[in-house]
Amino acid sequence: MKLLVAVKRVVDFNVKVRVKADQTAVETNGVKMSMNPFDEIAVEEAVRLKEKGIATEVIAVSMGVPQCQDTIRTALAMGADRGILVETDAQLEPLAVAKMLKALVVKEGVDLVVMGKQAIDDDMNATGQMLAALLGWPQGTFASKLEIAGGVANVTREVDGGLETVALTLPAVITADLRLNEPRYASLPNIMKARKKPIETIKPADLGVDPAPRLTTIKVAEPASRKAGVKVADVAALVDKLRNEAKVI
Ligand code: AMP
Repeated sequence: MKLLVAVKRVVDFNVKVRVKADQTAVETNGVKMSMNPFDEIAVEEAVRLKEKGIATEVIAVSMGVPQCQDTIRTALAMGADRGILVETDAQLEPLAVAKMLKALVVKEGVDLVVMGKQAIDDDMNATGQMLAALLGWPQGTFASKLEIAGGVANVTREVDGGLETVALTLPAVITADLRLNEPRYASLPNIMKARKKPIETIKPADLGVDPAPRLTTIKVAEPASRKAGVKVADVAALVDKLRNEAKVI
């Protein structure tokens, strides 16, 4: 079973994001970039499927600027077998990413796609769903547990009321939620080994996709700063404030 895992390069989750002075976007110059945390979970799950003998090959795909190579190398150091970089300067939107992933799935003969539920930069939460729709494949989104046997993927999903388990007939698209697993740290020997693993670089046009954005960002702004809070002396003072100032009880 061939497995494709999508890994996006995003601003590191520890960085305090700043808006550019001209309010066109978030500042990424000189900012630490890392693999999207949900994609690390997707890579971990893919590598575990390979270790269990369920997957035969794990291909890590990233789309964007040349530095996305680093993100792919991280996936290779975690255990993916090879990488594909779809290189473009275009501001990528979920539909363009989904179309390019679809083309790769068809070209590579992939049986299962595992990706993050959401990229933490744009918070779109759309690419996996769009990819499944374009391929006409079943989708198991927000996966917190995955079991594969006999051509069926049982995906446990975290939904509002608790846990839901869906059975998907493969091929399928799965998007990883936070509790699916705890991603491993790549060991130094594996980081060294990953340097020798192949990464193929292609362009969107090679996949027959025009990645030009369809949305225009009008303005990016910081959220309004919150007023400082106050400390109350005791519960009675708190209740008094809630009743007489905030008027919420
Ligand atoms: P989104 O729909 O933008 O929130 O992204 C959901 C998932 O799609 C991410 O967690 C990635 O697995 C994948 N993805 C989105 N954009 C890219 C990209 N430029 N390169 C690789 N994977 C991506």
